[in-house]
Amino acid sequence: MENKDVIVYRLGAGCDLADVEEGKIYQAKVQGFATFGMFAQINDRIKGLVHKSNIKAEHKERDPVLVRVRQIRPNGNIDLEEVLVQVYQVQNVDRKSTIVCISDLAGKVGKTVAIEGEIAQIKQTSGPTIFTIVDETGTQNAAAFVEAGVRAYPDAELDDIVKIVGEVMLRNNQLQIEVDSLSVLRDEDAAAVKIRIEKALDARSEPENIPLLVQSDVMEKLRPEMRKIAKIIRKAVFTSQPIILRHHADADGICSAVAIEQAVVSLIKDSGGDFDADYFLFKRAPSKAPFYEIEDITRDLDFSLKDHIRYGQKMPLVLLTDNGSTEEDEPAYKIASVYDIPFVVIDHHHPDATIDKYLKAHVNPYHAGGDFGITAGMLGTEVARLINPKVERLIRHLPAVAGVGDRSEAAERALFLTLVHDQYPEQVCKDIALALDYEQFWLRFNDGREIIKDILNLTGNPERHRKLVSLLVEGANFMIEDQMSASMPHVVPRVLKNEAHLFLIDVEIHAHKFTFPPPGKTSGEVHDRLCKQNAGIPVVTIGFGPDFAVLRSRGVLMNIPKMVRELRNEIPGGGISGGGHLVVGSIKFVEGMRDVVLEALIGKISDADIQKGK
Ligand code: MN
Repeated sequence: MENKDVIVYRLGAGCDLADVEEGKIYQAKVQGFATFGMFAQINDRIKGLVHKSNIKAEHKERDPVLVRVRQIRPNGNIDLEEVLVQVYQVQNVDRKSTIVCISDLAGKVGKTVAIEGEIAQIKQTSGPTIFTIVDETGTQNAAAFVEAGVRAYPDAELDDIVKIVGEVMLRNNQLQIEVDSLSVLRDEDAAAVKIRIEKALDARSEPENIPLLVQSDVMEKLRPEMRKIAKIIRKAVFTSQPIILRHHADADGICSAVAIEQAVVSLIKDSGGDFDADYFLFKRAPSKAPFYEIEDITRDLDFSLKDHIRYGQKMPLVLLTDNGSTEEDEPAYKIASVYDIPFVVIDHHHPDATIDKYLKAHVNPYHAGGDFGITAGMLGTEVARLINPKVERLIRHLPAVAGVGDRSEAAERALFLTLVHDQYPEQVCKDIALALDYEQFWLRFNDGREIIKDILNLTGNPERHRKLVSLLVEGANFMIEDQMSASMPHVVPRVLKNEAHLFLIDVEIHAHKFTFPPPGKTSGEVHDRLCKQNAGIPVVTIGFGPDFAVLRSRGVLMNIPKMVRELRNEIPGGGISGGGHLVVGSIKFVEGMRDVVLEALIGKISDADIQKGK
C-alpha cells in the first residue's frame, strides 16, 4: 500500500457523523483500550472502535493512527480498522453542512451549526473574543476562546466575511455561538456571500408602505426622502452600525429625536445581538447651540474613534433633527467628512443648498413648498413609523406636542392635535412641551433618556407621568412669572415706518441670569404677552444682551438668516453670525458694536413687508 495516491482525510473540528464516509482513511488518535479492541478519535466529537483483530501495531493512549471506516452502524457506532501507510496525501474535510441563517438559530440550541456573515464588531473581553456577525437575516454574537483575554483569530478583521462553525448556546437567556472554527473567506467566496447579504439586507431595510398619520400635501411630497432616511437607519441597525442622534434642545427637537429613539431601540432589541446593544449602538444627545457645532462633532468623533479602537465598533451614522439644514452646520460636516461619517438630516429650519453635498438624505418642508410650521417633531414621528411601525401607538401624540411647542401655525398642527385629542387635548400638549423645555434646562446637555420618557408618557406609568408634568409645569410657570414681573416694566416700544410695533428688552440687565427661562425663552414669553396686548398689530420683539439679540415676530415678513448675512457684509468689524427660522432667530456680534448692529437690524426690520390679516 505504499503509494503516493493514497488519500488520508483530516476531519475538521466542526464536522459531525454526516461528514464521515465508509471506506475512507482518516487521521485519528488513540483514546483508550477495552478488552475487545481500542477506541480511536477522528475528531473531538467522533470516535470509533478498532476491533483487536484489526489492530496492526502496538499503541499507547494519544498515539496517532490511521484508520479506515469499515462500517457506520445505524446507531451511529463506527467500526474502524487500522491501516499502515508510509506515503500518502492528506486532505481536509470541512463540514458539508448547509449554512444556517442567524434568524433560525433559536431553534438550534445545543446543536453545531455553520453560519456565514460579515464581522460587525470585535470585542475582546477578559475571557473570550466576541465577534458580532451579521447575515441577511439578523445579528448574532460568536464567542471564540484561545486563552483568557487573548484575541482569538487575529487575522479576522472588522467587515471581513467569515464562516463560523460552532455550537449554539444559551448564556443568560441570550443565544450565542461557541466558535469551533472561524475562517475568513477571500476573493470570490467572500464576494458571493457579500453580494447575497447586501441584496437581502437592502430588501429587508426597505420600509413598509404605510400612509402618513395625517393628510398633508407637503409631507406627502417629502415621503420618498423620509423613506430614504428610514431605510438608511434600518440598515444601520441591521448591520450593527452605531447611530448618534443629535437634536435641538427644545420640545420640538426632543419630540423628533425621542420618536426615532423609540423606533430604533425597539428595532435593535428585535434584531438580536447583546441585551444592552441599544445603549452602545444608539446615543441621543441634545446640541448646545441651535445647530450642529464644532464642539458637537468633536465630542462625537472623539467617542466614536475610541469605541472603534477599543471595542471594535464601526464608525457611526449621525442623524440630526431640528438642526442640520443651515450653513452654520457646515464646519462640523467638513470635519466629519474627513472620517467619511455619513449624515442624514430631518429639519425645518430654512435650508441652505450648500450643505446637501455633505448629506446622504435631507428631509425639509422647504424642499416641498412647506415651511417651519411642519416641525421636526412631526417629520421625525413619521420617519420613526417608517423605521418601525410597531411604535406608532406609543409616539402618535409627539407631533402635537412638537407643534404647540414650536408654535406651528401650519394646518398640520391642528390635524395632529385632532388625532390625539381624546387623550392629549391642546392644553395637555402645551403642558408637556413646557415640561420638556423646563426639564431640558436642568438636564443641561444630557439626554435624560428615562426622565424624558416619563414626561412624554412612554413608560406605561400614566400616573407618574401626570404627577411629573404637573410639577414641572408649576415650577416653570412660577419662574416665568417671576422673570416677567422683572422684565415687562423695562420693555421699550417703538413704531417702525412699516407700522410694525417693535419692542426692545435688555435681558442682560432686566432679567435673572443663569436660570430658567434663559434669554431666548424669556424674549419669547415677553413677545407672547406683547402679542396679546397688541392684538391685530404686527409685532417684533428683540431681546438683547451685550453680544447677542433674539428675535421674534408676528405679521412681519422677515428672513432672519438673510438679514444676518447682509449685516455681516455691511458692518465690517461687527463679528456677526447667527440665523434660525425666517421669523424666529438669533444674532451674535461683538459687544463693542452692539448699538451699530442693533440699529442696522431695526432698519432691516422696518423695510420688511407686513403680512396682511395678521
Ligand atoms: Mn423646531
